[in-house]
Amino acid sequence: MSDKDHFVEIRHAQKSYGSLEVLKDISLNVERGQIVAIIGPSGSGKSTLLRAINDLDPLTGGEVWLDGVQVNKSLPHRQYEKHINEMRQQVGMVFQHFNLFPHMTARENVTMAPMLLKGLSKAEADKLAEEQLDKVGMLDRIDYYPSRLSGGQKQRVAIARALAMKPKLMLFDEATSALDPELVDEVNMVMKKLAEEHMTMIIVTHEMDFAASVCDRVLFMDQGVVVEEGPPSVVFKNPTKDRTREFLRKHL
Ligand code: ADP
Ligand code: MG
Repeated sequence: MSDKDHFVEIRHAQKSYGSLEVLKDISLNVERGQIVAIIGPSGSGKSTLLRAINDLDPLTGGEVWLDGVQVNKSLPHRQYEKHINEMRQQVGMVFQHFNLFPHMTARENVTMAPMLLKGLSKAEADKLAEEQLDKVGMLDRIDYYPSRLSGGQKQRVAIARALAMKPKLMLFDEATSALDPELVDEVNMVMKKLAEEHMTMIIVTHEMDFAASVCDRVLFMDQGVVVEEGPPSVVFKNPTKDRTREFLRKHL
């Protein structure tokens, strides 16, 4: 198979900060509709890998491909800017800390990018915001400012905002880690719903139960390498590597 046959392909990803090698020759393929969990201790390179997918943390070596197009290709500056903006529009990201714009309502948070980047009219964008906020169960809060929303509600608006761009791929980086325990489920439910709709997702998470119930594959990373990967039933129940066993003993 050539590179283009995988929906997401990371080839020999390498990333260094000075003398610190954070990603060491990581290769990973994700097929359309697959849901992949990345687990591993803090500092193992999970966020760096996720951010490399849309070139927010450019790799020092290796290639990232999305749907047949190389994301991190070298181009003259202006061409690169145009290219990367097009690529980033296809990838939704949700981070640990809901980065909603505080001076905008839920509706405005969701409508901004589609209007600005896709040229939707106010009416079209409003309709889209209503659909997406309904999907995450936040339609009744559409005109609320973030300061009046709980952490779980903010995170659901952040998901709606990402979905409004109609991404091909969703990346979640510890989307529930900053939430009070009782708010985690409402966000996980939304991610489960996306899974049922066959959204392609890469999910960095500390929640092993959630990963086991939603993901097709689990990758265990440690110190910049993928130590072990496979279906959750294998990685969680019968890990083959000592490092995986040790990590799971502390987190399961
Ligand atoms: P994880 O998400 O698994 O906790 P990260 O990808 O955030 O890990 O970080 C991996 C390693 O890279 C850590 O040792 C971290 O300190 C280092 N690192 C991350 N970003 C930078 C940066 N901008 N400059 C220097 N080191 C960094
Ligand atoms: Mg991280």
